Amino acid sequence: MNRLSNSLVAADVAAVLHPYTNARAHEQKGPLIIDRGEGVHVYDEAGKEYIEGLAGLWSVAVGFNEPRLVEAAVRQMQKLPFYHTFAHKSHEPSIRLAEKLVEMTPEGLDRVFFTSSGSEANDTVVKLVWFMNNALGRPQKKKFLARTKGYHGVTVASASLTGLPNNHRDFDLPAIPVRHLTCPHHYRFAHDGESESEFCARLIAETEQVILEEGPETIAAFIGEPLMAAGGVMPPPAGYWPGIEALCRKYDILLVADEVICGFGRLGSSFGAVHYGFTPDIMVLSKQISSSYMPLAAVVFTDEIYQAVADNTNKIGTFGHGFTASGHPVATAVALENLAIIEERHLVENARQMGDLLQVGLAPLADHPLVGEVRGAGLIAGLELVSDKATKKPFDPVGKIGALAAEAGQEEGLIFRAIGDTLALCPPLIVTEEHVHQIVQRMEATLNKTARALT
Ligand code: PLP
Repeated sequence: MNRLSNSLVAADVAAVLHPYTNARAHEQKGPLIIDRGEGVHVYDEAGKEYIEGLAGLWSVAVGFNEPRLVEAAVRQMQKLPFYHTFAHKSHEPSIRLAEKLVEMTPEGLDRVFFTSSGSEANDTVVKLVWFMNNALGRPQKKKFLARTKGYHGVTVASASLTGLPNNHRDFDLPAIPVRHLTCPHHYRFAHDGESESEFCARLIAETEQVILEEGPETIAAFIGEPLMAAGGVMPPPAGYWPGIEALCRKYDILLVADEVICGFGRLGSSFGAVHYGFTPDIMVLSKQISSSYMPLAAVVFTDEIYQAVADNTNKIGTFGHGFTASGHPVATAVALENLAIIEERHLVENARQMGDLLQVGLAPLADHPLVGEVRGAGLIAGLELVSDKATKKPFDPVGKIGALAAEAGQEEGLIFRAIGDTLALCPPLIVTEEHVHQIVQRMEATLNKTARALT
């Protein structure tokens, strides 16, 4: 059967504009329709099995058919399917989850604001920080520092913080005052012969120079993913985060850890900030918070920020910010059950152990003729494909071989994400040794198939 004559495929092509997709190519190709999930696997309409090597969108910690999450959703749906948290209303799941997040996150993060997506959460961070600085009588302290290739979402403020050209181009962004600093990725951004520690020192010096150039009194916050994920899986050089944290303290700049991917065990530690040894003033959480079974995100922040914001709400009469679904009862009930499972099944520890195995298993693929660098931490990894290993020269055009590899991966039964020509892996936290071996084997087969397609 011609794929495009399949009625679901045809209906998709006729009606849906897909995120992060070339719409014209999609009209020709149609979608891969995923029909069901089980553990670390998903199955397409024809019944073909794939290892979901990206946990959906870096997010399904507990696997694709966890009955306890379904039961938690049903219980809450039956009791109170929706209620809001505006105007002094509340409900138990959102209260319990806020309490749980305060308990789980590092000391000092004591207050929680809920949204439905990471993008909304980062827009909330921008507004919260602006609102606070106006309340504190320093209206000029509004700029954000972010990084080239950082990913913080797609709404107007969060996409402005994102440091990727396709999120700005033709969207008239950035639309908020932001300076993007050098991406902390040694392989691509170090000068010739620069060691990792020299590279790190240069990035810290650059950050300080930008702060002084702009004036510390104009800089509100520094935002970063502890390990940059959606921009291409780039762990920071050793010492980077303590260096950034010291600058934030020196110049009274808030430090925001965007933990949307790193949070809840992805790196084999509770949070990315814990993994890299720094203490943020604000943490942004999403994805693995509910294993994405329900849309949910949270901004967790210090009591100091809360007090300034609360005083201002008292002055104005309200906090003029909030979403219909802020703290949605079904989403927060599912998140509570999901976090209980992560604890009971020791999935952070599993991520550490299986992560070590994944990194060790993938490391030899650095010798593959197509691979320039293999990198990662815990259960997240990236393989960057290059046309010349010695000079690190990318393929031309960037993205073509990545797309080819993603197709080859699907044929081999492995779904991963091609970010340009970096192949990103981020499997569910429940992976076993056997799954990790299969992921490595299928990735090697994918590289070989891609290499053959080039000749
Ligand atoms: N922040 C980070 C670090 C992310 O990786 C993402 C999404 O991948 C976002 C924010 C945006 O989240 P959402 O897609 O839920 O808006």
